[in-house]
Amino acid sequence: MRKSIERIEADTEGVSYDFPVYRFEGSARHAPSAYLQAALHAGELPGTVAIDALMPLLSAAEKEGRIRGAITLVPWANPVGRAQYHFAAHEGRFHLGTRTNFNRDFLLLEKPDPALLPDESTLSTTDQRLKARLLKLSLGHDIVLDLHCDDEGVPYLYVPEPLWPAMADCAATMGVEAVLLWQDECGSAFDEASINPYLGGNRAELQRKVVATVEYRGMADVDAGLARQDAGGLYRLLVARGVIEDASLPPPGPFGGIVAPLENVEMTAAPKAGAVLYHVRPGDRVERGARLATIVHAPGEPDGRTEVIAPQAGYILTRRGHRITRSGEDLLKLIGSERSADARSGTLEA
Ligand SMILES: [Zn+2]
Repeated sequence: MRKSIERIEADTEGVSYDFPVYRFEGSARHAPSAYLQAALHAGELPGTVAIDALMPLLSAAEKEGRIRGAITLVPWANPVGRAQYHFAAHEGRFHLGTRTNFNRDFLLLEKPDPALLPDESTLSTTDQRLKARLLKLSLGHDIVLDLHCDDEGVPYLYVPEPLWPAMADCAATMGVEAVLLWQDECGSAFDEASINPYLGGNRAELQRKVVATVEYRGMADVDAGLARQDAGGLYRLLVARGVIEDASLPPPGPFGGIVAPLENVEMTAAPKAGAVLYHVRPGDRVERGARLATIVHAPGEPDGRTEVIAPQAGYILTRRGHRITRSGEDLLKLIGSERSADARSGTLEA
């Protein structure tokens, strides 16, 4: 394993950001390669600790000569967001300087050719330079996983629709509960930038790719046991796809979780501002008309509560981590069997 340090220049003189990259070399020239990054939304750390738990498994495989394809690991993908504390609160989703989501507005290359990336010195802000660098580090790998988490949730994947069902083995080995398929565009997020260079190529080659945004439950699920479990899932995926040899593992079984297009997700906005009492948890199944949450907007008054009702039957994927809401704010993600009347194109969230 080789460690190197990447440096991104800040937007003022005398300031720069560093982050480490760990590389394992592969022994077989044509074996699939893998790139894993975590904490692009800088406060989302279940993936960072999963990589920490994965590292000893990779080191053992390296020692035993079982690593066939190159593996690149970036456990802290966003040193810019990592340093953003605003009045003691961490802000890791949006770059404070540009108000841009760190997982939007990546460059969409037509081909997987690093020569198409711009010279970083021509990019005007530090978040743009960071995005160009992450793309450069990941470009050319067959497997690209971007490890995130939701507010509170079960583990699930966002997968580009052309890669499904070819990626069902990945969902099965990782042990996620659900897969959301997106089409066309998703705000130029990192996953879209990772698959875009290959969309014009031949279909058989495309279907050997693995690209996913991995949502490892919720922000607070930074836990040693879960990290070991997730590292085990990542390791099984690397074995299943031929990056690592491990004859002790069985081949992946079928994926038994939920698979749905993004348009089937009900985001259920709060009808009023107030305190949220949830009646469901991630992983619950609900009928149409079920009570999902109560908004207490005028405590103690006869009409001081408003119910939030399931617009269709489905599966509770996530819910928000905070308990104060303003009106119009999304409260949870419910996967239905039908298209949502409020279906959103592109991304579900800002
Ligand atoms: Zn995220």
